[in-house]
Amino acid sequence: MKTGICPKCNSHEVFSGAGIVLKKGPFGSNSIPIGLTSIAALDNFVCSECGYVERYVSDESKLAEISRKWGKVEQESVEKKEE
Ligand SMILES: [Zn+2]
Repeated sequence: MKTGICPKCNSHEVFSGAGIVLKKGPFGSNSIPIGLTSIAALDNFVCSECGYVERYVSDESKLAEISRKWGKVEQESVEKKEE
């Protein structure tokens, strides 16, 4: 999506809301909670052909905070599934 191509319909009509004013949205509507007092605003990428939406956290300090505070999702290996 960040490359300008929609992964669902392969359209090049992809638009980014990364630079819009008041990105966090009213009452934190365009953000996710990280902890009790911390939220991260989201960058939305929208395909105007099919309506598909992709969202990213772009603030590097928020990404670092998430990796400190959240539980890591462990990768499922093929070997594990066979056990
Ligand atoms: Zn699309």
